[in-house]
Amino acid sequence: MKYQVIIVGGGPAGYTAAEAAGKAGLSVLLIEKSNVGGVCLNEGCIPTKTLLYSAKIYDNAKHASKYAVAASEVAYDLPKIIARKNKVVRKLVLGIKAKLNTCQVVTVVGEAFIVDKNTVCVGNDTYQCDKLLLCTGSETFIPPIAGVADVPYWTHRDALDAKDLPTSITIIGGGVIGMEFASYFCSLGSKVSVVEMTDEILGGMDKELAALLRVEYTKRGIQFLLHTQVTALKHTNEGIVVTYKQGDETGTLISEKLLMSVGRRPVTKGYGLEKLGLATSERGNIIVNNQMQTSVEEVYACGDLTGFSLLAHTAVREAEVAIHAVLGKADAMSYRAIPGVVYTNPEFAGVGQTEESLLAKGITYQTITIPMAYSGRFVAENEGVNGYCKLLIDADRRIVGAHVLGNPASEIISIATMAIEMQMTASEFKKIVIPHPTVGEIFREAL
Ligand SMILES: Cc1cc2nc3c(=O)[nH]c(=O)nc-3n(C[C@H](O)[C@H](O)[C@H](O)COP(=O)(O)OP(=O)(O)OC[C@H]3O[C@@H](n4cnc5c(N)ncnc54)[C@H](O)[C@@H]3O)c2cc1C
Repeated sequence: MKYQVIIVGGGPAGYTAAEAAGKAGLSVLLIEKSNVGGVCLNEGCIPTKTLLYSAKIYDNAKHASKYAVAASEVAYDLPKIIARKNKVVRKLVLGIKAKLNTCQVVTVVGEAFIVDKNTVCVGNDTYQCDKLLLCTGSETFIPPIAGVADVPYWTHRDALDAKDLPTSITIIGGGVIGMEFASYFCSLGSKVSVVEMTDEILGGMDKELAALLRVEYTKRGIQFLLHTQVTALKHTNEGIVVTYKQGDETGTLISEKLLMSVGRRPVTKGYGLEKLGLATSERGNIIVNNQMQTSVEEVYACGDLTGFSLLAHTAVREAEVAIHAVLGKADAMSYRAIPGVVYTNPEFAGVGQTEESLLAKGITYQTITIPMAYSGRFVAENEGVNGYCKLLIDADRRIVGAHVLGNPASEIISIATMAIEMQMTASEFKKIVIPHPTVGEIFREAL
């Protein structure tokens, strides 16, 4: 059982690499211990967006009168929302399996155990390879807060399958995952509190727009505790008690449910990875070069395991680069323009540099910020709502960052992503013809 490439982990990194290698005519073995599709398809990107879409439809229906449409009895059915989410996941997982078959990829379901860089075992079976590609992803990090072992906390997995709406929920961590669940539960009617250790939600994204999104959700009833550290957790008859410290003050929050979303860690333990002696970062991520090669020859790593962005689209591109390296094709990974999206309502997206990252690097830049109301399509579809589009331009007049708060930021950010990746100047970007009326025209308006 010898293959040219063995891939461990069948998430976006692993299945993309497997497809690319199979299409290129290499013999490929993909080993996945759980479900092909990984976190993204089974418990991440796709299920969250499916649930958020139901919540958005519900929100829109409740506010239909703004568009002169009457919808008098608006209601949702949570078990059916969850059932639909499961159906969407099943359909997409089947699609991935079909693609892998088409690309002649051999898939083994089971936990891979690494013996050496050319040998991997699954149960009693041993497989040999020329090149090994590690795509084992990341897992939820549970912070060592006092009392954590004795409280029935949720991770995103539990939240995704909750068929009974919690009356109240405290979310520890105001990052992307925390904010998407905050938005979901708030839309459905839970009382939501978000506790965030730093001074703003959505760290790493444009701070000014993140603050505006927080203000919007505060109006909708979410309680935000910033600069706040959770110091203890306790399960009582009234609910889960979260004790926190905010500056010199201490306080408590009581809620029916508690969701942990403080971050994710690479999956590096329990499957013999240490035998390879790969160089790792302080956070335990596998260190790779721009061709996704690790410190050990013929061993590659992609996706969350490398820790560059913890995003599925980064994992996918890294996987393509790794297979190109295996094939000896010239290619290199670029992290210049990795878009990040928060699928709240309104959506918030950013790509490239932020003002904060430019200031930290001492790079001079110009900021252009305009209201989304400059887009006719936005005005037509967003009654009584505003948002902002911010472009960051460096001293050479190149677009280096773009940030959008307003629907559909997730879709239009791709336009700016291309401009930033291609290192376009403002005047080059302005020459691109964008269809009218679309919200994406906002970038032309800004220049
Ligand atoms: C709630 C949530 C929402 C998210 N939303 C988004 C989003 O909207 N957009 C976005 O871009 N990203 C999102 N992400 C992040 C995204 O899911 C990850 O970036 C992506 O899944 C990483 O892909 P990967 O292939 O590196 O790893 P994973 O998807 O984690 O896949 C790794 C696979 O390896 C398998 N594995 C691990 N060890 C072994 C072993 N020893 N043997 C065999 N198999 C093994 C695992 O079972 C898993 O299937 C979200 C994540 C979460 C948790």
